[in-house]
Amino acid sequence: MDLTYKRKNVFQEADKKEMKAIMDYAEGYKKFLDNGKTEREAVYETIELAKKNGYKEYTLGSKIKKGDKLFYNNRGKSLFLIKAGSADIAENGIRIMVAHVDSPRLDLKQVPMFEKAGIAYLKTHYYGGIKKYQWLTIPVALHGVVILKDGSKVTIKVGEDEKDPVFYISDLLPHLSQDISEKKVSQAFEAENLNIVIGGIPSGNDEKNAVKKGVLEILNKKYGISEEDFLSAEIEAVPAYKAKDVGFDRSFIASYGHDDRVCAYPEITATLETETDQTVLTVLADKEEIGSEGNSGMQCILIQDIIDMIASSYGVSPALVRASSKCLSADVTAAFDPNYPAAFEPQDGSYDGNMSRAGQGVAMNKFTGSRGKSGSNDASAEFVGYLRKIFAEENVIWQTGELGKVDLGGGGTVAKYLARYNIDTVDLGVPVLSMHAPYELISKADVYSAHKAFSAFIK
Ligand code: MN
Ligand code: MN
Repeated sequence: MDLTYKRKNVFQEADKKEMKAIMDYAEGYKKFLDNGKTEREAVYETIELAKKNGYKEYTLGSKIKKGDKLFYNNRGKSLFLIKAGSADIAENGIRIMVAHVDSPRLDLKQVPMFEKAGIAYLKTHYYGGIKKYQWLTIPVALHGVVILKDGSKVTIKVGEDEKDPVFYISDLLPHLSQDISEKKVSQAFEAENLNIVIGGIPSGNDEKNAVKKGVLEILNKKYGISEEDFLSAEIEAVPAYKAKDVGFDRSFIASYGHDDRVCAYPEITATLETETDQTVLTVLADKEEIGSEGNSGMQCILIQDIIDMIASSYGVSPALVRASSKCLSADVTAAFDPNYPAAFEPQDGSYDGNMSRAGQGVAMNKFTGSRGKSGSNDASAEFVGYLRKIFAEENVIWQTGELGKVDLGGGGTVAKYLARYNIDTVDLGVPVLSMHAPYELISKADVYSAHKAFSAFIK
């Protein structure tokens, strides 16, 4: 009898039929990525999917009946899918899954336009943890909304259509980079230089701001906006790349925003497709990348309010519902990168280590945090054991994960913001290579494995 623990490769274990299922699943995921690059777009894309599956809009406060399939749109930036089951929610609680749909990006400042040396620019303030140099010399698109003086809303999306122009942030040529090359990477690139090129044709003969004037004329003609309207705008610069298969065997997908759409999408497909008598609450959260703050982030009390509304509709104490609920905090984790082994726990041929690897399935991080699990939820052995049993019964290939070498750094997720309501919670998500880069990489095996794991959880 072999008593050792061995991880499995999802592709290796798949028969012909499952291999096709993995590849087909990836096609739907790529569409979701391209149609939902911002939190607002991902929310609307999900509403469309939910409506096609019979979901109706929920008005806060209205009574929820067993069998209802509802969506609650929180300000267009976060979303709750409620599937009201027939099982007793005092005893079984609610199956909750939370992923986030905001991703690191460059936001426009409130007074963003300026002109210098005949080039018009937009100034940015980055959102979330980025390596600034990765955003130089790549095509970027602008997505967002502008609220005009009269209160009406204009939606902007430029740089995604084949015929659209894109935008650009320049870098200094290597020939003149000696000073920069000698600096530390953390000091070599300044946020105030992340200025986006938006035009170069002067309008009229004025010496000053003629190019800016020209761009404003185009914006006014197309959107009816003037410079002052940027004061009440939310415009995000994101990479103008489409999701693409990677590798001769098409095993990987490269895309902007895998973190955390690669967990949001399986959460949605599992919710829409799984037959269950459990009550399921599926959340697409905003603002995770900046600490889950604000009224669209998971620190907002809205999650508790929604659980309260379900409980009161069923005539059950919300405290009892929360106590028996279970939650997957569905967020990405770091995949082991063979090019940078020093960042990860040492591994050799005889020891697989605690790092998740691309292709070995969805990864469970029992704990996150940094420097001694600080800021971590750290799930109980009992809850991990409960999931382990379910995954074994449903043939889910999964692995454990950890963010990297213990002393190197770390990170957090929304897990602790669910656990604070007395809900058993653990992190379960897809391993990502080049996390937080403008173009991240995941294995098709792992997003498929996440779909299977989330389906098993709510069954
Ligand atoms: Mn994340
Ligand atoms: Mn992140």
